[in-house]
Amino acid sequence: MTCRVMLKSVFRCLGTNPVAGYRSMSQSSLAGKVAIVTASTDGIGLAAAEALGKRGAHVVVSSRRQANVDKAVALLQSQNIQVTGTTCNVGNGEEREKLVQMTLDKCGGIDILVSNAAVNPFFGNIMDSTEDVWDKILSINVKSAFLMTKLVVPHIEKRGGGNIVFVSSVAGYQPMQALGPYSVSKTALLGLTRALAPELGHSNIRVNCVAPGVIKTRFSSALWQNEDVVDEFKKQLSIKRIGEPKEIGGVIAFLCTEEASYITGETITVTGGIGCRL
Ligand code: NAP
Repeated sequence: MTCRVMLKSVFRCLGTNPVAGYRSMSQSSLAGKVAIVTASTDGIGLAAAEALGKRGAHVVVSSRRQANVDKAVALLQSQNIQVTGTTCNVGNGEEREKLVQMTLDKCGGIDILVSNAAVNPFFGNIMDSTEDVWDKILSINVKSAFLMTKLVVPHIEKRGGGNIVFVSSVAGYQPMQALGPYSVSKTALLGLTRALAPELGHSNIRVNCVAPGVIKTRFSSALWQNEDVVDEFKKQLSIKRIGEPKEIGGVIAFLCTEEASYITGETITVTGGIGCRL
């Protein structure tokens, strides 16, 4: 039996064929794409950068602290991922522009934006939250997500299309106790996704959103480090454990591939089974 005939019979046994196999591989590939992921030196942002990079994208990672950027770049490079890093506080307009310009200079274009940055400076009754709290939360969690989008869209258009993914939260569907303003900001991202999708559809840009449940990161450590809170929380879960950042990163990367070519204006909840409904 020749090698070709052997391969054919192997593919027949697998119920597939070499051409179809190749096509599905290329649909999940992001080779040649450039992806900016904000707040990507830790947690979900870093996991998204890793997932995009493993699919072949050149990833641009950033956060406020240079030491964190250096660490993330080294980690991704150790996995043979093409990566560029810089500092960027998404709340600062000049730093957002610097991030975009550096990406253009070093990578020659932009295909993907994952807007992941968020803050929560307030725990308590929503009626006790101040104007400063609202300004900070809406500025970082919502306004900067839109302004980053506005900055990158003309460059994605030059490439003939691409993807925007926002990172919302399960709290965007059902406000979490003591996290009122943060939860409202995450609901706003569901609206932003829907508002942008039809407008950017004309430019072949898909706009989607991922809403994680409780995921094991520094940001949520107050929740998962307290066993009583975890036990209480597990009652709501079908999958009885806290999620891992890579379980969000993979979904973000999927949304940016051709496998998701007919998905736009959508929010995918990744919560271990918590019911999410507005
Ligand atoms: P994380 O592990 O604590 O990581 C936060 C990252 O953001 C770090 O890289 C941090 O680096 C960077 N960062 C913070 N403020 C920034 C700013 N103003 N500009 C740029 N970078 C900034 O957080 P995470 O849990 O992955 O959260 C990421 C996203 O997931 C957020 O949008 C959050 O709302 C959402 N989310 C998280 C959970 C969860 O359970 N973890 C659940 C639902 C939604 P520097 O300190 O160097 O800036």
